Amino acid sequence: MKGFFLLFLLALSFGCVQEQPYQGSEEQTPQINSPTFFEEEIQENKSCYPENHCDSEHFCINGECIPKTSLLPEPSDEEPIFKIVFVQNGMDNETEFNEAVDREVAAFVSATPFKDCPDRLEVQKMFDFCCKNGTVKECAENIFGDFDSVVLLHNAGVYDTDCIKCYGEGTVHISVEGRGLLTHELGHSLFGLWDQYCYWPSENNPNPVDFEEGNCTEVTDKNSWHYRYCSLSPESEEVTPYKCLGNMNSKKGRSIMGSSVNRNPADPGFGFTDEELEIISKKVKCS
Ligand SMILES: [Zn+2]
Repeated sequence: MKGFFLLFLLALSFGCVQEQPYQGSEEQTPQINSPTFFEEEIQENKSCYPENHCDSEHFCINGECIPKTSLLPEPSDEEPIFKIVFVQNGMDNETEFNEAVDREVAAFVSATPFKDCPDRLEVQKMFDFCCKNGTVKECAENIFGDFDSVVLLHNAGVYDTDCIKCYGEGTVHISVEGRGLLTHELGHSLFGLWDQYCYWPSENNPNPVDFEEGNCTEVTDKNSWHYRYCSLSPESEEVTPYKCLGNMNSKKGRSIMGSSVNRNPADPGFGFTDEELEIISKKVKCS
């Protein structure tokens, strides 16, 4: 059980196992020297990456300014495929919260089949959230009813521990400063995908990283985060720790479930792999 726990502790905190929220998400920790695969190509062909110059009506996604209205869900009579609710902890700026929700939701929609039916994603949010008793999940259920995932936003390293005691199963927490984190974390919580920055070959791994393509190398520094994280598979098996970049996607980037390379939605390489999209499209059918 320990390995499974370790894997998800960082992304999804189960129950009241810890007094204090984990001080940082997994996504801030992995530091892999990223090769700049096709920087020149980006500069030539893409308009808003790395310099984001989209106006306030557009998001920079995959290097292009995309109208916000084409990605953000509107309230709809249609049956939602998933319902996600957003709350905050320790934030004092509601505008920052609202903008982060929109930005991260738009990135998630753009990377999944929801891009063809954004209104089938139900999004609700509440800034004035303080959960003094029970888990975040329980408090959110009292406010929003049933949902598929609750996402807690906070500023990096900042927690108001009076308003959060523990998370509850399936709760995602992400820092506002991170870009594209929501998409990665919902890859876990909604679609059951595993991380691709460790080499965990297993028939139970829905999206295993390919050793060669994923650029996997053995981790020898026993003090490194990767050594600890990648040496325990989600099946609690102890394995040789290998860290990887992740498989390639069709946008010439690395999987969103891979290392932080290409995980910024503005990056032209931001995307799931075709194999991951196949898994996702079984759960997200627009029609
Ligand atoms: Zn992850």
